[in-house]
Amino acid sequence: MKLTVVGHWGAYPGPGGASSGYLLEENNESLLLDCGSGVLAKLYEYTDISQLNNVVLSHYHSDHIADIGCLQYASKVQLSLGERIDPISIYGHTLSDFFNKLSYENASVGKPIQEGTSVSIGPITLHFKHTTHPAPALAMRIESENGSMGYTADTGWNDSLIDFFSGVDLLLCESSLYNKYKGRVEGHLTAGEAGLLAKEAGVGQLVLTHMPHFGDHNELKIEAGNVYSGKIELAESGKVWII
Ligand SMILES: [Zn+2]
Ligand SMILES: [Zn+2]
Repeated sequence: MKLTVVGHWGAYPGPGGASSGYLLEENNESLLLDCGSGVLAKLYEYTDISQLNNVVLSHYHSDHIADIGCLQYASKVQLSLGERIDPISIYGHTLSDFFNKLSYENASVGKPIQEGTSVSIGPITLHFKHTTHPAPALAMRIESENGSMGYTADTGWNDSLIDFFSGVDLLLCESSLYNKYKGRVEGHLTAGEAGLLAKEAGVGQLVLTHMPHFGDHNELKIEAGNVYSGKIELAESGKVWII
């Protein structure tokens, strides 16, 4: 799988950037994990939007879904221009009425996902697990025949994620907080906790994302590295990993 970071900011986009959005590609299949503010504009740099047929949403906070409405309009226009063949499939949980908005005219079709189930999109299979967050949210374990990755979505510390991510090649882990803010913000991980999750799950490498809008992000890397001895990198729009 080829993982491209589209947006790495938590809560809202930084200048010229985007909040959560990650493009996954394998063979001729592609899917977008989350579609936050600024993602659609950045996505042009990495793929042909008219060829994007699948979006998987972890949860319905604005920094993960803000551009869904515009993506649906894009699909509608592309279909009418003959630039697109199929509506976009948008996968999300059904624990909120927002699920009903994932289907829009002929442009997109909402498809339900839930903990304990899996979805296959071409050669890529996704499994889901609830996180610890103020709104229902699903972490994802994503596998193809070539490798595996985990995506925490948004979460506070959650023991069950250790087993869920056990042995993945790459863990894309939210790291919203510097260690000194531990316990101050509900439903998010400190960098040290991200490192602990990577260590306990025995992952191949750790990528920190969902960045705060203050401080020096290299501190996050240092704080995670005090716990996890594997390779640690910071997510940034345009960075690519082959898994
Ligand atoms: Zn978020
Ligand atoms: Zn959230």
